[in-house]
Amino acid sequence: MELIFEKSRVGRRASEIQGFDVPAVELDASLVRAEIDLPEVAEIDLVRHYTQLSRRNFGVDIGFYPLGSCTMKYNPKINEDMAKLAGFTEAHPYAPEAWSQGSLQLMFELEKDLREICGMDAFTLQPAAGAHGELTGVMLIKKYFEKRGEKRSKMLIPDAAHGTNPASSALCGYEIVSVKSNAEGGLDLDSLRELMTEEVAGLMLTNPNTLGLFERNITEVAKIVHAKGGLFYCDGANTNAYMGITRPGDLGFDVIQLNLHKSFSTPHGGGGPGSGPVGVKQILTDFLPVPRIELNDGVYSFVGDKPDSIGKMKAFYGNFGVMVKAFTYIRSLGAKGLKRAAENAVLNANYVMARLSPHFDVAYQRVCMHECVLTSEKQVRENGINTKDIAKRMIDYGIHPPTIYFPMIVHEAMMFEPTETESKETLDEFCDVMIEIAGEAKTNPQIIHDAPLTTPVNRLDEVKAAREPRVVYQK
Ligand SMILES: *Cc1c(COP(=O)(O)O)cnc(C)c1O
Repeated sequence: MELIFEKSRVGRRASEIQGFDVPAVELDASLVRAEIDLPEVAEIDLVRHYTQLSRRNFGVDIGFYPLGSCTMKYNPKINEDMAKLAGFTEAHPYAPEAWSQGSLQLMFELEKDLREICGMDAFTLQPAAGAHGELTGVMLIKKYFEKRGEKRSKMLIPDAAHGTNPASSALCGYEIVSVKSNAEGGLDLDSLRELMTEEVAGLMLTNPNTLGLFERNITEVAKIVHAKGGLFYCDGANTNAYMGITRPGDLGFDVIQLNLHKSFSTPHGGGGPGSGPVGVKQILTDFLPVPRIELNDGVYSFVGDKPDSIGKMKAFYGNFGVMVKAFTYIRSLGAKGLKRAAENAVLNANYVMARLSPHFDVAYQRVCMHECVLTSEKQVRENGINTKDIAKRMIDYGIHPPTIYFPMIVHEAMMFEPTETESKETLDEFCDVMIEIAGEAKTNPQIIHDAPLTTPVNRLDEVKAAREPRVVYQK
């Protein structure tokens, strides 16, 4: 396919300016920038260029997108409709509170819903992403110990954790201590008991963890952490596995961050806006970021006067549009609907695991939550085909590859999260493709080695673009 630069013809234009009604002046040469070599094309070439580029994108609106650990789930269009309402899009952060009562009410109510869903005492909506929520949560923990005059220097983090967990703790000055996983994919309790001392501020646990497994000993884990005065942090990026079924607050967690752009169905990716609200138990509420939203005598207001607050985590109040979408999702599903969404997410992941387990190795043979981890170790052993090859071949069948080689404690990992919105027919189509690929691995491994065969480009050198960026077109 021709590049837009190759389509360029000298003098071709998308538009022309007809005559000037002001006199021409000679420009000072020092003001004329070096000539930039932009393509010269007609309007239709430009339209086709960008339309064609847009069609090379793959998204959940185009096809199945089973990306594990990230919950790339379908965002119902009603969420967008609500976020598009002029009253929200034209709200200005400096508008007086009296003019912004609707927006304040929405945030107030969203906090209330999240409290109810998670069993926590208070929420802040300020953080802009999951990792930002983690940072906020760990800052709250740090402030708690400072207020108590306790010096604690370590944070415990399981070896299966998302990389942002150790990063957030390290940013707050904590030394990271890794806790091993056991053969079941849960936390090794003996190792936890040994490591949990009075030097430890807390444990950051992802539940369900990045293997898609619910921590079976969760209440015991909470007891071990609390017995030494530590705080129990929940990375709740994947709340969609249990919302409406169980509540982190009831399981013993003291702090949680949610990813509204995952569990609560607002689009993410490409660095777009996210939202990582943080929920806390009573012991931490005084430290929450300001401003807080309060309701007095039927009037909502921002309250900034909180002497123990860790301060502001984000300009204004956070990514408001994401909140509108998440609030719409929660209110349009209702309590029963949220629970059913979680049940279907879990059912779908287990269905995929059951159908694929005769063909691929399963990392942990137990009921999974919203995602399942399979491996291609069998294909590596028997056919010389690895996970990367399989992921590339999936593209030829019109399916977005899953998360691969993560979590790092599983060799040749392929992590599938079908999400709750996919029908049995779609899941079957997907499983049929995976089974077909497992068959090809035996009969025609070369085609998998060569995949993808249907895309504009084949296998890319994945580091070259970063090492040798070529940002200027050379004729
Ligand atoms: C996605 C994710 C994060 C990070 O969230 P961001 O919004 O990308 O910053 C943290 N922990 C877990 C378990 C996640 O899945």
